[in-house]
Amino acid sequence: MGNVNIAKRTFDVVIVGAGGSGMRAALHLSQAGLKVAVLSKVFPTRSHTVAAQGGIAASLGNVKEDNWHWHMYDTVKGSDYLGDQDAIEFMCRAAPEVVYELEHFGMPFDRLDNGKIYQRPFGGHMQDFGKAPVERACAAADRTGHALLHTLYQQNVQANTNFFVEWMALDLIRDEEGDVLGVVAMEIETSEVMILQARATLFATGGAGRIFQASTNAYINTGDGLGMAARAGIPLEDMEFFQFHPTGVYGAGVLISEGVRGEGGYLINKDGERFMPRYAPTAQDLASRDVVSRAIATEIKEGRGCGPHGDHVLLKADHLGDAVIRQRLPGIREIALKFAHVDPAQEPIPVVPTAHYMMGGIPTNYHGQVVAPYKTGPEEVVQGLYAVGECACVSVHGANRLGCNSLLDLLVFGREAARQIIEDLQRSPHPKPLPADAADRPLARLARLETQTNGENVAEVGAAMRQVMQTHCGVFRFPDLLAEGVAKIRAVAERVQRTAIKDHSKVFNTARVEALELDNLIEVAQATMHAAAAREESRGGHARDDFPKRDDDKWLKHSLYFSEGHKLDYKPVRLKPLTVESFPLKARVY
Ligand SMILES: Cc1cc2nc3c(=O)[nH]c(=O)nc-3n(C[C@H](O)[C@H](O)[C@H](O)COP(=O)(O)OP(=O)(O)OC[C@H]3O[C@@H](n4cnc5c(N)ncnc54)[C@H](O)[C@@H]3O)c2cc1C
Repeated sequence: MGNVNIAKRTFDVVIVGAGGSGMRAALHLSQAGLKVAVLSKVFPTRSHTVAAQGGIAASLGNVKEDNWHWHMYDTVKGSDYLGDQDAIEFMCRAAPEVVYELEHFGMPFDRLDNGKIYQRPFGGHMQDFGKAPVERACAAADRTGHALLHTLYQQNVQANTNFFVEWMALDLIRDEEGDVLGVVAMEIETSEVMILQARATLFATGGAGRIFQASTNAYINTGDGLGMAARAGIPLEDMEFFQFHPTGVYGAGVLISEGVRGEGGYLINKDGERFMPRYAPTAQDLASRDVVSRAIATEIKEGRGCGPHGDHVLLKADHLGDAVIRQRLPGIREIALKFAHVDPAQEPIPVVPTAHYMMGGIPTNYHGQVVAPYKTGPEEVVQGLYAVGECACVSVHGANRLGCNSLLDLLVFGREAARQIIEDLQRSPHPKPLPADAADRPLARLARLETQTNGENVAEVGAAMRQVMQTHCGVFRFPDLLAEGVAKIRAVAERVQRTAIKDHSKVFNTARVEALELDNLIEVAQATMHAAAAREESRGGHARDDFPKRDDDKWLKHSLYFSEGHKLDYKPVRLKPLTVESFPLKARVY
């Protein structure tokens, strides 16, 4: 097909994604005087970061004594020891600085009486290497992500970042040597296709919670960065680890922040029993999310669930009083009223574990550079490609992410990737020539959708995928269901290859976007199913019914899934931090 008739624009850096991570990186790069393009499928401030409720983790110690080393310990433990300890040290040490930076950008944090940033307790945040809960979550009511995203957007407007709003990146451009030279993108409104050439391409495309039926994620969270990477031959790391948030609104999936439990709310079963102390005697309702989700799933399985079907539990917050709820949790109050039809100051909220966060992603080092087996050789830095935020696997979250560590991850690695890009671009001042087939893959995908007759219906195939993932790869994973799941998801993938947009006269361009998104979702779904079926242990978010224990002898390693041939490989966990001693492996109790 070649590149004939395709418009081309050239930038120093192209960033795909205008969530917290993409905008933090863009700000640093634009302020350094580079020509930066940021693409987003939606208006930047509608990115999923806007929905983050609870807060940003940083050991400011504004309420009780705290330090980065305790934060690091909690993160390593929370990750069930699968997190890379060099990256975790890097993130926890940088946390106070990136939060103060944000404060200086104008972020409207809540305040303590003494004027310092308000901090609340959160799951797994502890003092003194796990001894007692500590207030570490820096919050703006229960709308922290909203405040953060608007702050970063305003700063980017001032710094002259170029936004491509409602533009969708379709595929990476990689030359014969494997170097990345930019992306091919499509304007959603007009379907115009364009090449965006850049010396550095940064993926900040967010999560892929939409592979599941019940998810707290926005509809746009379709794993596009992962799909593009997988199609370009880059493996996906640790995809078996998805976090199920304990408290999605029953029936709706909308998130009820852990901030509710941070403010003193707790979970009860159908007998009105506060059950978490039986599972986590010290941290109780503020144990790590995987622990709380499994506890709820167990209560339900053993017949102590609530409601006529016994299929959920209740989150009690009425004892906090109307005033606290209105001041600290106003968004939660609205969500409870709207989606559960209860006023949390009067009645408990029905909740159930819901797919929430993807721990895996595109493999990077802690400078945001993508590292992958490359040019037939061993693992090395992929020239020109970077990834940050939820689409990246650094890995700081290992097998389970602690609450508030994601917003932190966006800020720390957004800024660090930008710093690294500036350094790398000084060494490569000129763009490499584009290969003649730069746009062939995405053009072929578009052509398939338009020309195939009797193709599969996108919505039906998408629903089939979500149903398979929900049934075969949920909170608890069973050997027979996983084996079936692998076969079923393969069958769905074959159907995805045959999807088409029927009856062109009635097609909105959103149908085209949904079809293109499904190409990405199915890559993520297959990676998750294959990696989950292969990992014969329970660790963090991955709980196997047939292998209930963590197995460090065999499984203390990261998985790498290659789309081609569904091949799995493994690489060691980086247990050595930068300056301190490693935390030795321990059983994880809360
Ligand atoms: C309801 C909810 C509450 C949460 N609360 C918290 C919390 O309190 N604390 C915390 O630490 N974490 C929280 N998290 C997790 C955290 O918010 C996310 O992990 C994080 O915001 C992801 O940021 P991101 O920059 O990686 O991507 P996102 O904010 O998801 O942004 C992705 C961007 O990529 C763009 N994009 C995607 N694909 C394409 C494409 N093909 N072409 C062009 N653009 C594309 C989108 O338009 C968007 O701009 C929460 C998550 C959810 C869902």
